[in-house]
Amino acid sequence: MNQMHIHDILKSSEPTFSFEFFPPRSEQAANDLYDVISELGRFNPSLVSVTYGAGGATRELTHDLVIRIKETMHVPPVPHLTCIGHTEAEIDEILVRYAEAGVGNILALRGDPPRDQPDYDRSNDDFKYASELVTFIKKFNESGRHPDPRGFGIGVAGFPEGHPATPNRVKEMEFLREKVDAGADYICTQMFFDNHDFFDYRERCELAGITIPIIAGIMPVTSLKGMNFMAGLAEGAHYPAKLMRALQRVAGDEAAVERVGIHYSSQQCLELIDAGVAGIHFYTLNKSKATMEIYSNLGLSISQS
Ligand SMILES: Cc1cc2nc3c(=O)[nH]c(=O)nc-3n(C[C@H](O)[C@H](O)[C@H](O)COP(=O)(O)OP(=O)(O)OC[C@H]3O[C@@H](n4cnc5c(N)ncnc54)[C@H](O)[C@@H]3O)c2cc1C
Repeated sequence: MNQMHIHDILKSSEPTFSFEFFPPRSEQAANDLYDVISELGRFNPSLVSVTYGAGGATRELTHDLVIRIKETMHVPPVPHLTCIGHTEAEIDEILVRYAEAGVGNILALRGDPPRDQPDYDRSNDDFKYASELVTFIKKFNESGRHPDPRGFGIGVAGFPEGHPATPNRVKEMEFLREKVDAGADYICTQMFFDNHDFFDYRERCELAGITIPIIAGIMPVTSLKGMNFMAGLAEGAHYPAKLMRALQRVAGDEAAVERVGIHYSSQQCLELIDAGVAGIHFYTLNKSKATMEIYSNLGLSISQS
């Protein structure tokens, strides 16, 4: 059940709801996170995804968390996989392990150079862009080494507000199209706070002939510190005045900041669902409260099992 291919997931539940986690580094934190995942698992998400430290920084941690979810929960785990700094042989080894464990889908990414290596030289890398990783996974799928004859379902990243490294937005769409043509099955977007950016992006994809489902990335602001941290990670993200004004009114009251953030994301999700979004992906930052409250605001129920 939890090795479902993304095509089956998107077919059986629309819109899909998914959660993203990053693998913690200590055993205690891993156990705490597992409790959070189990709690959110009661909401019957369509899938949960686990991030990957670019260059392989969390290679084993990501793998272990993915396998733990796979073996103990009903929800399909989707490992993220970045190709920067990896050789083809290493990627092949990672794919074989996931295939043997019956993991059904992978989010294929390029990743960024390590922050402590700003002069990282990518010229000798086996993979320059995520599109090459998609091609590689597609070839793996065709080799018949996955228990599902379709192989891995493949997701790729999308950037409604544009990726900072490609200021030419026309070119950027061509690069996205390359990734899709290489064999991507769906796009999951970077977080955004203004739905117009998403709607416009969806339309631009359509105009570029990109017709695969686009899952919207939502990150509820739960603290000003968290917001500032994420603004650093997702460079270029636009924080609308409407959101900033609401947060400013309650600055100094941490609980109120969280309530405002949850309310804002709930409104965003309602509008996206009304507009026929293929799925909503929550950047949980490894916490359950905000996502649970948004779920409740959306009228989505907990599984009785
Ligand atoms: C949903 C989501 C999940 C993520 N998860 C992780 C994670 O787990 N771990 C992690 O380290 N990072 C993660 N990231 C961040 C991501 O790795 C970075 O944003 C990275 O800079 C871009 O990755 P990509 O897969 O979009 O790369 P690509 O699609 O390769 O694009 C990277 C840049 O290169 C440009 N480009 C693409 N093709 C070409 C070409 N042929 N010629 C010239 N330029 C080109 C693109 O326009 C873009 O500017 C995630 C991002 C998203 C949206």
